[in-house]
Amino acid sequence: MLIVMKQQATPDQIDAVIADIERQGCTARPIPGGERVAIGVLHNKGAMAAAHFLALPGVKDAIAVTKPYKLVSREFQPSATRIQVGEVTIGDGHFSLIAGPCAVESETQAMTIARTVRQSGANLFRAGAFKPRTSPYSFQGLKEEGLKILVKVREETGLPIVTEALDHEVFDVVEAYADVVQIGARNMQNYSLLRRAGRSKKPILLKRGLSATIEEWLMAAEYILEGGNTQVILCERGVRTFAHHSRNTLDLSAILVVVKESHLPVIVDPSHATGRRDQVIPMSRAAVAAGVHGLMVEVHNQPEQALSDGPQSLYPEQFDALCTQIQSIRAIL
Ligand code: PEP
Ligand code: MN
Repeated sequence: MLIVMKQQATPDQIDAVIADIERQGCTARPIPGGERVAIGVLHNKGAMAAAHFLALPGVKDAIAVTKPYKLVSREFQPSATRIQVGEVTIGDGHFSLIAGPCAVESETQAMTIARTVRQSGANLFRAGAFKPRTSPYSFQGLKEEGLKILVKVREETGLPIVTEALDHEVFDVVEAYADVVQIGARNMQNYSLLRRAGRSKKPILLKRGLSATIEEWLMAAEYILEGGNTQVILCERGVRTFAHHSRNTLDLSAILVVVKESHLPVIVDPSHATGRRDQVIPMSRAAVAAGVHGLMVEVHNQPEQALSDGPQSLYPEQFDALCTQIQSIRAIL
């Protein structure tokens, strides 16, 4: 249920509605909004009577919210969420370009790539220090040493850092170093990790699970907002299908639905979606044309030697060309 207050509702009337909601054993969550005060009702056990709220002074409307996700929905918050990361604004008319290697491999590697992607126009730097790998024998990341390298990269280039918290155990350390904490596809339904992210003050980049429906993805984001952290960036990174011509299938139409359903920024990761360098640029262009709020692209200076995801990493000059193309597409839009 969403209670919309009249424009001239007094603070006392708003407080009275909140108290009424809490008396019924529910949580009242005032929703920020320019032209109206709205109060979301959470944790209700069943349907609530709109007539009860409509009878309270100052109440304009009481709208039943039919979707299972509440705080992430446009019904609760019609205006788009903007997320500020240092000087960078993500969402709502702003386009963000996150680029970097799959993993931090060394200071020289991370710094070299960061300098070139910044030169091309990236706004944020990505690189994993804790890597989710299919095989336990594959490179697992430099861990805290990798995070320290990322801090040096930020100090030198000024680019904010996006990096993954692989589990609950490492969330604290990742949060301490990162500007944006990534939750990977395999962890999209790791509920204790989502709850921990909900208590964080840092923005969270939440990837869509390999086989997650849009509803499941939005419900995962709901966990984070319900915990108190409203700064969530959704990232479509391809889902698993019967296709073998690419690593995953980039579900671009999901973006259109999510933008309609949710006020949160939505970006696309064409690298994990395709897994193939030759598909990354065309799919990036398609995503930009579809109106995403940003891209997260893997770039490596020596992809043949990369310790992870080399075959899908763009060469720096390819990324540079992509940046020019993005500008042209955005100009047309
Ligand atoms: C990554 O961003 O490097 C990564 C492992 O992504 P995903 O969780 O989407 O597989
Ligand atoms: Mn990767």
